[in-house]
Amino acid sequence: MSKIAVIGLGNMGLPMAGNLAKAQHNVSGFDLVAANIAKADERGVKAAKSAAEAVGDADVVVTMLPAGKHVLGVYEEILSKAKKGTLFIDSSTIDVASARAAHEMARKAGMIALDAPVSGGTGGAEAATLTFMVGGDADAFEKARPVLEKMGKKVVHCGDAGAGQVAKVCNNMILGVTMIAVSEGFLLGEKLGLSPQKLFDVVSTATGQCWAVNSYAPVPGLVPTAPSNRGFTGGFANNLMLKDMKLSQEASASAGVSTPLGAAATQLYALANAYGDGGKDFSAIIQLLKGK
Ligand code: NAD
Repeated sequence: MSKIAVIGLGNMGLPMAGNLAKAQHNVSGFDLVAANIAKADERGVKAAKSAAEAVGDADVVVTMLPAGKHVLGVYEEILSKAKKGTLFIDSSTIDVASARAAHEMARKAGMIALDAPVSGGTGGAEAATLTFMVGGDADAFEKARPVLEKMGKKVVHCGDAGAGQVAKVCNNMILGVTMIAVSEGFLLGEKLGLSPQKLFDVVSTATGQCWAVNSYAPVPGLVPTAPSNRGFTGGFANNLMLKDMKLSQEASASAGVSTPLGAAATQLYALANAYGDGGKDFSAIIQLLKGK
């Protein structure tokens, strides 16, 4: 049993902290929103009055925060309050440069650090079936593995500092682009008189197959669990996809890599957000293409 502090008890951090407590770890948590701390308390997470208090006697610190500036701000606040050698795991989705800066800050403070962003969404966080993409030393990874396995079903060591965030941003750029490609294909098929079911039967077993078709089709009636069957509610919100697409473009610019489809897709998700679809699942991008 480890002493674990979780900072950031929002949609993802709350169930993740709950799963660590369920696994008999001694978990303390902090969030700026008091109501989130109260919800964590109901899941067996000890309420802390501040982030500094939460990390005081922790062996492991997990952060699950909105963006790079929040992670760096919290690290600034807590690194000097933790015991030397504490393992810091940042599971937030943040830009690669901030992730590497966080590693460096932790190293200078005598701590061990990993970036470990996740995929699997709030459903995966609740069910402890997240996938963790991890960047940092192999030794740190092995130390973190038993903790991460209590929150997820797949844990992949991607490489050195920042490699987890690189994997995350590349995966989500692929996802964002393919969802638009799939939407265009289904719209074109429909306009040309082809039934979506027939197109699905072909594409899902042909060379166009991909997760956006096979597991998450943006047209209702094809994949029962897809958000398109529920008016695009639940799932992975458009505004979160936009955040990740923007991170992919920042990364492309800083690496000097040309990602023209990623750039175009980013603009389309931004437009969907501007039209008020930010809270809908990202597959609602098909409605924008339909002009709705
Ligand atoms: P959220 O906004 O629900 O939670 C973030 C929490 O951090 C909030 O409760 C906020 O009050 C808290 N917070 C902010 N600054 C703080 C500080 N200084 N000290 C303590 N708490 C602070 O967001 P979320 O959906 O839980 O996502 C968290 C991270 O996980 C993000 O980086 C997001 O991109 C990533 N992510 C989210 C999903 C998803 O489906 N929601 C999926 C994969 C990855």
